[in-house]
Parts: sequence; structure tokens; C-alpha cells
Amino acid sequence: ATPMAVMVGTGLGAMNGILFKNASALEDATKLDVVIFDKTGTLTLGQPDVVDLAVAQGTTQDDLLQIAGSVEKLSEHPLALAILKRAGNLPLEPVEGFNNVDGMGTEAMVRGQRTLLGNRKLMDVNNVDLNGLSADSRNLQGQGRTVVHVAHGGRLIGLIAIADAVRPTSAAAVAALRAKGVQVAMLTGDNRATAERIARDLQVDIVLADVLPGDKAAKVKELQAQGKKVGMVGDGINDAPALTQADVGFAIGAGTDVAMESADVVLMKSDPLDVVGAIELSRATLHKMH
Ligand code: ADP
Ligand code: MG
Repeated sequence: ATPMAVMVGTGLGAMNGILFKNASALEDATKLDVVIFDKTGTLTLGQPDVVDLAVAQGTTQDDLLQIAGSVEKLSEHPLALAILKRAGNLPLEPVEGFNNVDGMGTEAMVRGQRTLLGNRKLMDVNNVDLNGLSADSRNLQGQGRTVVHVAHGGRLIGLIAIADAVRPTSAAAVAALRAKGVQVAMLTGDNRATAERIARDLQVDIVLADVLPGDKAAKVKELQAQGKKVGMVGDGINDAPALTQADVGFAIGAGTDVAMESADVVLMKSDPLDVVGAIELSRATLHKMH
């Protein structure tokens, strides 16, 4: 494209809240074969809420929330905020030895017992007795919930099911990309069952689940190694390396500064449909004004 065309294109984008940070991004956006969306905070609102509780025999809901809330008080994960909100005014207890377990959850000591909060994998690697709640966990995940398993003293005491609503335009964005011949992938640290359910609702082509934060960029690379031009859309700090690795990185404007610095395009309205707008704008700029 001529410098004039690029100026017009980026100007038009800016007026619509689509900020191209460089001329090559405008050109590269015309060539994308696949767009990967981060799930949490990008396809979803990133405002998780507790929607269901299941307790094992001998545990009350308040007991479950009190133990879980005491540990999550020390975590900065969005799931922790949802659990604390649900715990409300329940008195929190002293916690010792708090640790994050990468990609799986957290661990700490509460009431003198080792306490684990996280996904099913965290329970499995610690040989936790599932205490009759295995089917409940599977069912809740099948409904698209993220399930926080709470183990106390070696056995599961309950499940906290969390939902994060999809953004109102996510399905339309996926459909519009596919109509243009662009494949759509969803990338998440969440478990496969939960991810598959949300992916089915949104009709995405490729589901990349159970991905550790440090492995997101490698997933972008894998698709590039298949000869594909890859767009990546994300909001979080842990999306930054993947945004850099992608041929075009798109940051959600309501996300972190780190994501916005790493991206080639910033979507100021935090609307997934603006990815489609960006591609249309780039195609129009390059075709009409060569
Ligand atoms: P994501 O950003 O997709 O949630 P993470 O690597 O942060 O990816 O977490 C992976 C999974 O580990 C989460 O889906 C959740 O099941 C579990 N997890 C992580 N942190 C916590 C926490 N503080 N409390 C409960 N579960 C957690
Ligand atoms: Mg995210």
C-alpha cells in the first residue's frame, strides 16, 4: 500500500476505536489464516461469578466458603475474587504457607490441614479422595462452568462452580471471521470439558485447552509452523508473549497495559467484532488503494 493509503486506513480505524500501531500490521491483517482468541476476558467478560456449590457429606456450604475464601484472600486470580464475593461476611481464618500451583490452583494450610483449591488435575496429582463428587464435577464442567475443587486434609470437601458470561458479540465475531474464510481458535488455561462446551456455543474451529500461561506463545508458533498466518487476541499479562509471537497481535482495550504494549492493534471498545472490522479495513485499504 502507498503511505497515503496507510494513513487513510489507520485514520479510519482510529475513528472507530481500532488503533493500528504500525503500517505492517495493516498489511499483515489482510493475510490472516487463523485468529486465536484467549477465552477469559476476551471472548468472555472476565467477570466470573459463583453460580453453584456442591458439598461432600459432613461439610456445610458456609464451611466450604469459609475455608476457600480464607485461601483465596491471598490470591489475585479472577476466580479468587468470585469466591470471596460469594463468601461475603463469613469470618476468614488464618492461613499459612500459601503457594500458587502453576496452571492448577493454589495450596495452603488452614486449621492445621493442607488445603488445595483448583482444577481436577490438582486433585489428581495430589491423590485427593474425590469423596463422591466426581460425577458432579464432570457435570458442572459439561455445562461450561469452571469448577474449583476444594480439598482439606486429603479429601474433597466441595465444589465451587463459576461462570463467566461470554461477551454479547463473541458469537457474531466468530461467525463473521469464518464467513471470510478465517479459522477461529480459542485458547485457555481452563480444562478441556469446560472449554469444549463454550467453544461449541460459539462455533469455534479449534480448542486449545489446559494451556499453561507460559505455553501460550508456543501454541501460536505451532500454528505458524503449519504455514498459517496467525492473529492473536488477548487481554492479560500472560497473553503478552503470544501477542508478540503472532503475525498480528490484537489487545482488548480494557485489558492490561502489558498486553496493549505487546500488541500491533489495540481494540479500544473491547469488542471482539472489531477484529473483523480491523481485517475488513486492512483488506479495503490494500485493495482499493494499491
Ligand atoms: P486461566 O487464566 O485460563 O484461568 P491459569 O493458568 O491462571 O489460567 O489457571 C488455570 C486453572 O487453574 C484455572 O482454570 C483454575 O481451574 C485453576 N486455578 C488457578 N488459580 C486458581 C485460584 N486462585 N483458585 C482456584 N483455582 C485456580
Ligand atoms: Mg485472559
